[in-house]
Amino acid sequence: MLQRDRPKNIRQAVPAMQRILQRFWPQIRQQRSLLTFAGIGLLTEVFARLLAPWPLKLIFDYILIPETHNADLDWPILRSLSPQGLLLVLAIAIVATAGLRAISAYISLVNLSLAASRIITKVRAQLYAHLQRLSLSFHYQTQSGDLLTRITGDIERLRDVTVNETLPLLINTLTLFSMVGIMFWLDWELALIAMAVLPLFIISSTRLTYRIRKVARQQRRRESAMAATAAEAIGAIKVVQALSLESRLERIFSSDNQQSLEDSARTQQLSAGLQRTVEILVAIATAMVLWRGVILVQQGNATPGDLLVFITYLKSAFKPTRQLAKHMAKISKATASGERIVDLLEIVPAVRNKPDAITAPPFQGNIQFRNVHFAYDPDSLPGRLTLENISFQARAGQRIALVGPSGGGKSTLVSLLLRLYDPLAGKILIDGHDIRDYQLNSLRQQISIVLQDSILFGASISENIAYGISHTSSDSTSPRTEIRHGSRSKELKPVSQTDIEQAAQLANAHDFIMALPQGYDTLISERGSTLSGGQRQRIAIARAAIRKAPIVILDEPTVGLDRKSERSVNDALTKLTQNSTTFLITHDLRASKDFDQILYIENGRMLEHGTHSQLLAQDQHYAALYHIQSAVAKSRSTCECLEEPCLHTP
Ligand code: ATP
Repeated sequence: MLQRDRPKNIRQAVPAMQRILQRFWPQIRQQRSLLTFAGIGLLTEVFARLLAPWPLKLIFDYILIPETHNADLDWPILRSLSPQGLLLVLAIAIVATAGLRAISAYISLVNLSLAASRIITKVRAQLYAHLQRLSLSFHYQTQSGDLLTRITGDIERLRDVTVNETLPLLINTLTLFSMVGIMFWLDWELALIAMAVLPLFIISSTRLTYRIRKVARQQRRRESAMAATAAEAIGAIKVVQALSLESRLERIFSSDNQQSLEDSARTQQLSAGLQRTVEILVAIATAMVLWRGVILVQQGNATPGDLLVFITYLKSAFKPTRQLAKHMAKISKATASGERIVDLLEIVPAVRNKPDAITAPPFQGNIQFRNVHFAYDPDSLPGRLTLENISFQARAGQRIALVGPSGGGKSTLVSLLLRLYDPLAGKILIDGHDIRDYQLNSLRQQISIVLQDSILFGASISENIAYGISHTSSDSTSPRTEIRHGSRSKELKPVSQTDIEQAAQLANAHDFIMALPQGYDTLISERGSTLSGGQRQRIAIARAAIRKAPIVILDEPTVGLDRKSERSVNDALTKLTQNSTTFLITHDLRASKDFDQILYIENGRMLEHGTHSQLLAQDQHYAALYHIQSAVAKSRSTCECLEEPCLHTP
């Protein structure tokens, strides 16, 4: 999804740079005053560089070897000064030129660094916000390590290159053109000799720069793969250790690591080769100019001072070209990074707000699925649809159970209600309105969800519960201090500790939280792994409860819990779902017996639909499954009564 054809040579890299500049133009424009100062500093520095050899010429021609004067080149104003006076003036001029150059270089560097840091900070924030809004289908298809490399490594490289390479590149290019112009003005014949090596320079630098870019891009890809392997292994460390996958993953990582090392060595080798080539070309040009220049001085057609200025310019003009090659190589590398960022920014989220989307009003909770069709990979159609022609209606406050074999499409169906994906055909209506007409945030804020393995964040318990209330997009403060209180409430209110504790009490979590050494301030380690499964679920229920949402989705919330935890969690869920339209996905048909509607879903189709007794009377799939479960439960002679529903009727 993120791979596109890359520029194959330096000519193709220019549009790539244009594309990057265009994409970041709004952020660049915001820094125009800093960039203007940087530009003035830059021009002044180039001017100071051009002035630098002239005092030396005058010292040669007027003080050291005055007899070689050419009358045409006399500067009457300097003739009026004594040699000592002239020397003093020229010595001061040397210091002043160096001072001017130092100050202007400082101004341009400081202003450009600040502007670049600000631009990159904004781009990074934009990229992070964009990533979070990209649809689930994108995230499932993309390795998280690759995304992390883009948001950290690629962005940092772009900042580094803007400051450390673009500024010198601009100064050097301007210096080069100005000096070449002055060289032609001084002596076109000598200038032509000096320029003879230019075609060679262009050919070798273009070829080598292209190869450097190619290897660099390959290296970045490998670094992304390494980051992805590491992120995957660390994220699933329990599974890795349990299945003894360490050595296997180490082998994959080492292979990428080794190849990355080889790519890095190759890049260094090519860069070094590029710089040495330029050095040799400069030496050839200098030798040719000196040879012809000395003849001109001997013939009296130029002064030694002229030759000195010419040679200094030649070296100064070529010295930047030597660095030009280095900067071009680095900028080429950064172009690949910049394109990776732009590629990501240009991905349009599959699920997004319509231009005329409205804020959803507080929902009653009437839900209707109308001929809904869905496939995760529409491109592979015609093939099997994940959901096919699903239609049903749920009145506000009703409890709907989704049952059926694994992989039937139950979780997919509720994902569509949350608009994690959009249907291929058909409509989902809440209170009679197509959910695509609502702004995503305002829709999702009114739906609470408790999953089988609820993810908690690396923050305190209080904060984890408070995360249940969504921020507005501009919020940047802690969820504890400024978050929307209740989706039905219009105004922003801070979430109080009382709200948090009430939600925890509803979720049967208050007592165990208070028993922890730091109570509500206890920091939960990443993914909540320091708590038991039942405790994690109850915090997740508290997080759902604080939302006070009119629609609640429970996706197998008690799977994997022991009997005691299950009872406690079920009790909390019963309280959570009072007065809400509730969807429960379950494989345990005892849990859904008393529900208002049961949807039996298999292979993406709703094969049966009705109450428990209606479905038993139909004596088809649901009834068969129920009888099997009953028989298994009886044969195990468990003390639990099949007639006892797990989610109590309020
Ligand atoms: P279970 O009871 O095991 O949770 P389910 O009934 O909830 O299953 P879904 O998770 O909705 O079933 O999956 C329905 C089908 O869609 C399955 O074939 C599954 O492999 C496929 N599927 C689920 N998620 C994705 C995804 N992100 N991308 C592609 N296919 C998916």
